[in-house]
Amino acid sequence: MVNSCVVVKTSFYGYLNLMIYLDHNATTTIRPEVIDLVTFIMGETGNGSSTHKAGQKASMHIERARDQMAAAVNTRPAQVIFTSCATESMNTILKTFKGERILSSAIEHAAILDCGHAEMEIIPVTSNGIVDLNALEDMVKRDPKPALINIMMVNNETGVIQPVKDAVKIAHDHGCLIHIDAVQALGKLSVDFKDIGADYMSFSAHKIGGPQGVGCFVFAAQKPIRPLLVGGKQEKRQRAGTSNVAGIAGMGLAAELAVKNMDRYDELATWRDEIESRITQSVPETFVNGQNAPRVGNTISLTCPDVTNTVQMMNLDLDQICVSQGSACSSGVAKPSHVLTAMGLSDDYALATLRISMGWNTTRDDANGFIESYTKIINRLRG
Ligand code: PLP
Repeated sequence: MVNSCVVVKTSFYGYLNLMIYLDHNATTTIRPEVIDLVTFIMGETGNGSSTHKAGQKASMHIERARDQMAAAVNTRPAQVIFTSCATESMNTILKTFKGERILSSAIEHAAILDCGHAEMEIIPVTSNGIVDLNALEDMVKRDPKPALINIMMVNNETGVIQPVKDAVKIAHDHGCLIHIDAVQALGKLSVDFKDIGADYMSFSAHKIGGPQGVGCFVFAAQKPIRPLLVGGKQEKRQRAGTSNVAGIAGMGLAAELAVKNMDRYDELATWRDEIESRITQSVPETFVNGQNAPRVGNTISLTCPDVTNTVQMMNLDLDQICVSQGSACSSGVAKPSHVLTAMGLSDDYALATLRISMGWNTTRDDANGFIESYTKIINRLRG
């Protein structure tokens, strides 16, 4: 006789369904409508640069996605350039300012901080994880005038929302250009490129319910771009290489759906608050980073001072719960998160911090399952 439980577990996908996935800031579940569209287009043949009918069809998919992406962030389609990921978008923008003075916040993604720009200076953040605008203003006034400022809209580890409109004003008052990493913002709060007034913005498909391996950047008219990839004339000569037609189409649809379903994050915010209050009340000494700052609804940065995040994560993993350590691990040695240490956390506290990030398909059972498992694990480890 076949045991049905074993049958479920022998299927990889069945096994995945048994998990509680709370690492949506790393990558979120692709929406079923997007899977359908991407799969359909992958069955077609056509290079978007070819002039025959098959090429025209591919090009039509790309331009539709450009329209959808532009509508999602309120800009003109001509200002949207598709890339392979947000990292590529940001590398392109930074390369444009090679050799010039650049200011970047201390909590930017590695795509900015580690891209090898020698003339980069770091803008500090407050203990709540908000970019220090006074420090920015002082730095901007110093010579030589910075060519570019990088501020993210929402931090990927804490979910803290940054004062990007104020930063844009400071930049423009002093004649500097500004790039906003809006990867973790799109679909979670309104991202209006025109209203914010930035010069550049970057996005990633796999953070908004689209496929991995696609991104884009948006640039204001007349702003300079030095392409990272050169060769063909794709993407208005700003990004050479045959377009990922199915991926780009998936990103366009994902952007449209993410914006349409944004109010889902209001519900997630109530679960976030519940998780935070139940855990901090029942597990002594735990605390939430950036809790007093404005935050998006899905992200929790949770510190439990006496248990390393490696041990926390391994035990949660045994309970089929996926969260993030929020720290880079190189050569098997965990490094404290640069975001948390920039906020003033000690290395030990940073190495005792987990990131829990919910997504569009998270359920109340997932949230409850995390609370129960986390409380049980920490109490057991503490004896
Ligand atoms: N910026 C932020 C805030 C991110 O969270 C990430 C991904 O984790 C990136 C940039 C890089 O995005 P991609 O994976 O598309 O290169």
